[in-house]
Parts: sequence; structure tokens; C-alpha cells
Amino acid sequence: MKLSLVVPCYNEESNIALMYDAVKADFKDVTFDYEMVFVNDGSKDGTLGELKKLLSGDVPVKIVNFSRNFGKESAMYAGLKESEGEYVTIIDADLQQRPSIALEMVSMLDSDPDTDCVACYQEQRSESKLVVFLKENFYKIINKFADTEFVSGASDFRTFRRPMVNAIVEMGEYFRFSKGLFSWVGFNTKFIPYKADERATGESKWSVRKLFSYAFGGIIAFTTAPLKIATALGAVSGLFSVIWLIAKLIALFFGVPFTAAGWLIFLVTLLGGAILVCLGILGEYLARIYIQTKGRPIYIAKNVFKNFGSEDK
Ligand code: UDP
Ligand code: MG
Repeated sequence: MKLSLVVPCYNEESNIALMYDAVKADFKDVTFDYEMVFVNDGSKDGTLGELKKLLSGDVPVKIVNFSRNFGKESAMYAGLKESEGEYVTIIDADLQQRPSIALEMVSMLDSDPDTDCVACYQEQRSESKLVVFLKENFYKIINKFADTEFVSGASDFRTFRRPMVNAIVEMGEYFRFSKGLFSWVGFNTKFIPYKADERATGESKWSVRKLFSYAFGGIIAFTTAPLKIATALGAVSGLFSVIWLIAKLIALFFGVPFTAAGWLIFLVTLLGGAILVCLGILGEYLARIYIQTKGRPIYIAKNVFKNFGSEDK
């Protein structure tokens, strides 16, 4: 098998057939074998039914059917794990990413043996100004603190060679931040610009709140900088109180009495705030360690369907 297309799907019933047809149309002249690995990430609509219809087609199709919604990160992981191709492309189900670009990525890999991955990045973002602003600053912050490089605008729409896929699948961490993992495993990645199309149908699953929590997860997963910020914050407020004490002692020496109830309240709240911030940050790391030590799986597949019969898990 030359190429696997991994398609994470969450509530995409109206896009599945469109996506499949678009792939078949764009791939009609290819001379190599390809398969499509759909991951049904606990969709609540008719996505599974639409996917099962594809099993009667002539393209090898595999459906990994999750027991609930585990999120796109888990869906991508499952797809990579279940794929069999020498090359693997991750592509969204909503047709924002044209399958013809996957073919361009394949020919780039074919013509350049030194490249292990071709990744698309968005030169121009079509999102709201607020989201673009937040995303750009997120990349600035994370690149400042993390050892791993994060490319601004880089998408999950990419094509890997098998050894890189295997390396990513071997990273069994529960809190996945794929853009970081893709970069952490090393290998040579070439970035090409692309313009994301409008969603064919349906709505994006990302809200500003979800993006925030995703960005925070990325920072926590790839840097321990927040812990250092906590320490710095504690040090600064500690230093401040020492200076304050010295100043008050000097003032006392010149006859100014300690009449600083207001100051005291200020200090107490300042220190209390700093301590709580530190505790909160520690708690975030601790919570992740706690969950990781439970060794929970990244996803649970209820069943896997293939054109050639189904296997129950
Ligand atoms: N997706 C998923 N699980 C989720 C959320 C999204 O598998 O919990 C899939 C979704 O079906 C789509 C892809 O991830 O194929 C990208 O999602 P979306 O289009 O909502 O994101 P955007 O393009 O707006 O970044
Ligand atoms: Mg989309």
C-alpha cells in the first residue's frame, strides 16, 4: 500500500460522501494503491452510517469507530496507528483541505528521498481577527520557552513517510499536542503554503474557549516555563516584602510609626495571589502526571470495519 489517507471525523455526516467523492475524483489517474482510514470520533449524528456506505465502494476503506468522542488528537493517533501505507496523509473531513494537495505532497516525497514529511501551513488565515491574533501570539510565546520548534500556521494536513509515522505512534503520551510531537520526533519536514477552503458543510468544532485550552495544553506539554514563572513570581513578591520591611525600619528610625494596615492588606493579598498562582500551575502539572500514571489508553475503539469484513475489539 503506497498511501493512507487518515480522516478524523466528528459529526461530519453531510461531508463524508462529498469527501470520498472528492478524493476519488482527484485520485482517478493515480497509478499507486491507496486506502482511506476514517476515524469516527464518537459522532452523535449519522457519520457512522455514512461511513459504512463507503465499505461497498472499490477503494479500501477502514473505519475505526470510537466508543465516545476522544478529540481530534486521539483520532489522528488512531488513524496513524491503523494506517498501512508507506506514506500517510492526515486530512480533515470537511474538504477545507483539497485532496489534490495530498497528491502534490506525495510527489514531493517521491522526488526527494531526504524529506520525511511535507506539511501545509496557512499563509493567510481566514479566521476572525481575534483568533488570528491569539494564534500568532501563542506561537511567539511557546517558541520562546519550548526547545521544540513550532511553526506558526502549520496545520495537521501533512504527509509522512512510514518511519516518521512509527516514531509518532510510539509516543504514547496521553496529553497529545501533535504539532509539538511532529516536531519533537525530528526528521526532515518541508513546509508548503496552502489556502484552506471554506468548510463544505457544517460548523467548525473549535471555539475560542477550546482554542485557549488547546494552547494552554500545548504550553504545559512542551515547556516547564510556567513553573519557572511561578518561582519568579514568588521570588519577586518575597523580595518586595523584604524591601518593604527595610524601608519601614528606616522610616521607624526617623520617627515614622508603623501605621500601615492598608499596606498590610495589600501585601497579604499580593502574597496570597502569588501563592495561589504557583499552586495552580503546580496543580496543572500534577494533574497531568496523575492521569498519565493511570496509563489510560489514548482512545477506545468499539469496533473496526474494513471492506473485507469487520473485526470487533
Ligand atoms: N474532529 C475530530 N474530533 C473532534 C473535533 C474535530 O475528529 O473532537 C475532526 C473534524 O471532524 C474535522 C477535523 O477534526 O475533520 C478538523 O475539525 P474542524 O473542521 O472542526 O476544525 P477547523 O478546521 O475549524 O480547525
Ligand atoms: Mg475544518
